[in-house]
Amino acid sequence: MLQRVAVPEGYTLVDYERYAGLGDEVAAVREAGRLAAQQLAGRKLWIVNSTAQGGGVAEMLLRQVALLRQLELDAEWVVITTRDPAFFRLTKRLHNMLHGVDQGPLTADDQALYERVSRELAAELKELVKPTDLLVVHDPQPLGAGALVGLPAVWRCHIGLDEETPSTRAAWAFLAPWLPAYERKVFSLKEYVPPGLQAAIIQPAIDPLSHKNRELSIHKLTGILACAGLVHHEHPKTAAPFEAPALRLRADGQFAPVREDFGLLYRPTVLQVSRWDKLKGFGPLLQAFALLRADGAHPATRMVLAGPDPASIQDDPEAVEELGAIAAAWQALPPELQADVAVLSLPMASRKENHLVVNALQRCATVVVQNSVQEGFGLTATEAMWKARPVLVTRAAGLRAQVRDYVEGRQVGSAADVPALAQALTEMLSNEKARELWGANARHRVMHHFTVLHSLVAWLELLGDSFRQRST
Ligand code: UDP
Repeated sequence: MLQRVAVPEGYTLVDYERYAGLGDEVAAVREAGRLAAQQLAGRKLWIVNSTAQGGGVAEMLLRQVALLRQLELDAEWVVITTRDPAFFRLTKRLHNMLHGVDQGPLTADDQALYERVSRELAAELKELVKPTDLLVVHDPQPLGAGALVGLPAVWRCHIGLDEETPSTRAAWAFLAPWLPAYERKVFSLKEYVPPGLQAAIIQPAIDPLSHKNRELSIHKLTGILACAGLVHHEHPKTAAPFEAPALRLRADGQFAPVREDFGLLYRPTVLQVSRWDKLKGFGPLLQAFALLRADGAHPATRMVLAGPDPASIQDDPEAVEELGAIAAAWQALPPELQADVAVLSLPMASRKENHLVVNALQRCATVVVQNSVQEGFGLTATEAMWKARPVLVTRAAGLRAQVRDYVEGRQVGSAADVPALAQALTEMLSNEKARELWGANARHRVMHHFTVLHSLVAWLELLGDSFRQRST
């Protein structure tokens, strides 16, 4: 099944001039847009992926579609769904394998399933598109469907590993038959391009004006936290609390609205906000915090582990399992430590509310961590950097491409190295001057490399170029 994603009005109202404070990029986008509009000559761009919310890809697409439309380019976003849960289990395995995680062999049945669902989806896509249109297909889930539509197409791969393993080889062999239908392939980092494939590189980016990243005054920030139930101060806004409050893990293993104020606004806070995924390294991070506290260090510091309510994301069947594992690890902590670690499930019923809460949490954090085993890019790091937060990351390729050791924060060699994580956290929490410097550097780096305007220029050039190639 296909689902068209509507761009909310708030997005379409944002004008390029509002980005003017972010360097010279606005003029570059306008020029690239003018050229691409000429080259594409009215062709509609169909952007296809597998989720409308709760993940880095979905985040960027919304603003990109809105901004493309303002450049007079016709763009439409479609999400694939299927009644067959086995399909998303298979694509999740492929996702993990492309990150090098062994998922057992891929079988002829897996191929048959992927092909069958891809054919169904392609048939639906064909009903929507015109022969003159262009496809931009994101990630492995809709790769097969996009290949079968028969339109000029670009495949955008957001994931990958910076080394070859038996798992990556098997996953790429599985996907290989679908790739030739795409005349351009785009990856986030050159390290992720599989051997023998020609691909362009476009780094992901954040939108500084989104609810996730926009500036928040102190009043706004406290209002958001109060409306989400995360602080319990009186605030004029709490007369209209959020549709769904944030939920905190309780001692009985259930999630419930937060009952007590756990000091977000006045205690040092270490934050990781991510999808609930084994590859995000929540488990060892929790252990590192326990180790830091066992050493008696930073007794006032709290840790917040936050992620989207797993029930709300249909292409991520492993999230429930991973959150269960984190909950079990948290329940095994002594009660005084449990009180200092908040595991938060953030409802996705309202995308705006969810994003405002993520924004507020990142702004409250003393240190933001992204302890990923592997990371395609790591927008949560980019978002924190934009907010001038010092960041602690692993050397996963997508993270080390953003955060340089001792420049924007710290790197640890491995997500599983609990003592190294605890040590880096202790150092960061102890050194306010370094935190300020690294935070300022971080904001500067995002402003000059990783905003949506940078990626839009790259996309407009690539699309115009692809079309020109086709017409000659
Ligand atoms: N995110 C969100 N709500 C949440 C938790 C996470 O919107 O409750 C966002 C997060 O802010 C980031 C994205 O999900 O923008 C995750 O992107 P990232 O590149 O870090 O990882 P991915 O999900 O693509 O693996």
